[in-house]
Amino acid sequence: PLQFQGGEIKFENVTFGYHPSRKILQNATFTIPAGQKVAIVGPSGSGKSTILRLLFRFYDVESGRILVDGQDIRDVSIESLRKSIGVVPQDTPLFNDTIRNNIRYGRLEATDAEVEEVTRRARLSNLVEQLPEGYETKVGERGLMISGGEKQRLAISRVLLKKSPIIFFDEATSALDTETEKALLQNIHSLIREQNSTSVFIAHRLRTVAETDKIIVLKDGAVLEEGSHQKL
Ligand code: ATP
Ligand code: MG
Repeated sequence: PLQFQGGEIKFENVTFGYHPSRKILQNATFTIPAGQKVAIVGPSGSGKSTILRLLFRFYDVESGRILVDGQDIRDVSIESLRKSIGVVPQDTPLFNDTIRNNIRYGRLEATDAEVEEVTRRARLSNLVEQLPEGYETKVGERGLMISGGEKQRLAISRVLLKKSPIIFFDEATSALDTETEKALLQNIHSLIREQNSTSVFIAHRLRTVAETDKIIVLKDGAVLEEGSHQKL
């Protein structure tokens, strides 16, 4: 069973630096409400991906707390923490294996029909169906060399299949053309609504995160602004 059900995330006065002399986050405080669609925006280097690394406990905070559904993440096993959170990272690792297995990574018990459904939603099924070996095509070193945008769509298929209560998209559509991005985001939003997941879209610019309930703007290690799209 998953540790978290609602999926509310709270950063309370979080201070963190990779090196003691340089703080990346400085008293950062914000809330990602359960079930909402939230954007985190800020310039390159402002600490957006660091938030994810802290949430996954690749690093621990220096001071402050990170809570998920009211529980300090240090009181939860790392395994169940990581199981509850899906992420499309900025740079997706692919394995030297078939397309099907790359998508199923994270939920190995998924059926073929489920894999094909998320691949369709991620707008990757057209490509896969054109390949002579379809879902059994090998990718990576000894297989198909897929493009940056295809890789992003594969990563999105993978995370959608995982059905986590919390899903992060870290610049997950940056390599796609505007039209594909728009169609794909619509599919993602509707699937996330069906799953009742909390979703967080990390981006450099406000423009790419129009239809969110809440926007958190990071600057110089702290939250500069917080509000709705209309307000900002
Ligand atoms: P981008 O929009 O370019 O992805 P970001 O907001 O996601 O940027 P982070 O990856 O969170 O930025 O990095 C914040 C700062 O921390 C950067 O200045 C980066 O160089 C530094 N940093 C990131 N990872 C490490 C690390 N492992 N060791 C030292 N410094 C790091
Ligand atoms: Mg980043």
